[in-house]
Amino acid sequence: LEATLALLKPDILANPAFVDSIINDIQNSGMKIALRKQVFWTQGQAEQFYAEHRRRFFFDRLVKYMTSGPVEAIALSGPNVISWWRQKMGATRPAQMRMTNPTCLRARYGLTDTRNSFHGSDSVESAKRELVFVFGQPAYK
Ligand code: ATP
Ligand code: MG
Repeated sequence: LEATLALLKPDILANPAFVDSIINDIQNSGMKIALRKQVFWTQGQAEQFYAEHRRRFFFDRLVKYMTSGPVEAIALSGPNVISWWRQKMGATRPAQMRMTNPTCLRARYGLTDTRNSFHGSDSVESAKRELVFVFGQPAYK
């Protein structure tokens, strides 16, 4: 059984109907929402979460976006849930997804390459690190 960190980024939280619809979707999928928590990151917390991107051109705008409002953090558990959630989100760029994978979440909700509405851990190791960062524990039932 695997676990991953899913984030609904601030533009999603700004529209409560979006949150409800996405949560319903997850619940109907068979994957389990083990824990949920709304977090409002400081600049320092967002910089730490995205430390691997510190030197990328989009880092400042990413930190600004992720601290522009609350984020819904969800610990998901289930078989192969890391890749399941990443497929459900689609790739980073919403405009590209609208052409190639129009039913994925980023195609449906994403605004720009930075303001792409969702996060999902990219490996077992980053899932553990990110889950500990948000919830203080790496594993879930
Ligand atoms: P992956 O983890 O597979 O690389 P990702 O969508 O999580 O995909 P990252 O490369 O980890 O993307 O980047 C983290 C976040 O930084 C993205 O979700 C997005 O918000 C922002 N970002 C990434 N690449 C760009 C880019 N080229 N231009 C603008 N913002 C970007
Ligand atoms: Mg990533």
